[in-house]
Amino acid sequence: MSDNDLTKPDPSPRQLSRTERIGIYGGTFSPVHSGHIRAANCFLDCVGLDRLYMVPTALPPHKAAVDGASDADRLEMLRLAIADDRAGKLEVSDWEISRQGKSYTIYTLEHFTKPERELYMLVGTDMFLTLDKWYRAADIFRLATITLMRRENDRSLDAVIDECRRRYAEDFGARIVVIDRAPFEVSSTELRRRISSGDSLEGLIPDPVAGYIKKNRLYTNSKSRI
Ligand code: ATP
Repeated sequence: MSDNDLTKPDPSPRQLSRTERIGIYGGTFSPVHSGHIRAANCFLDCVGLDRLYMVPTALPPHKAAVDGASDADRLEMLRLAIADDRAGKLEVSDWEISRQGKSYTIYTLEHFTKPERELYMLVGTDMFLTLDKWYRAADIFRLATITLMRRENDRSLDAVIDECRRRYAEDFGARIVVIDRAPFEVSSTELRRRISSGDSLEGLIPDPVAGYIKKNRLYTNSKSRI
């Protein structure tokens, strides 16, 4: 049957109107750790995403050198970290790293915006509380549902977060989702410190990532930002 065959059944209306839920999870990921992977999986489950792009931010070359890992290393570590993603919904995007020029979040959201797509952007508390000051904040709120996942146990922040939610909804018509799942407490800063002092990384970082760091002697430089 050719593509023009008029006897071919039409796609069902449901297929035609299907909206994809796309998650965007940006960060330095230097290195990616088990806290990031847990956050990504919570984001997938809680929002019911069809696909989640992990988007490492571009670092200026001098910062990458001080940091102890190149852009290529950060990308490769992310690819290794998601390699056993059985549902096949996690993807690493090199878009921010590959594009030239200044990286603003709105450019990334515009890049991923397509008809029949709803964008969800994952943020931590510090980012959430300052979102209205970001470059083209109104457009960020227009293009994406902001998804907050907290990593700190500081309940005194509840009132500040609630106040921000109210203000963003009022001023920008923001759509905001809060993921209420306990985080896995670890940070890249802590991991870089452990690596440079030879401490164990067990359980804190996916094994293939730990292997890559060891093989390529990443973060061992005394200049590493720890
Ligand atoms: P660093 O210690 O160098 O600041 P980091 O561990 O915070 O790094 P980033 O790459 O800066 O890692 O994090 C990217 C995003 O992931 C941020 O929004 C951050 O809040 C979030 N995040 C980092 N660690 C965790 C964690 N353990 N649980 C949940 N979210 C996390």
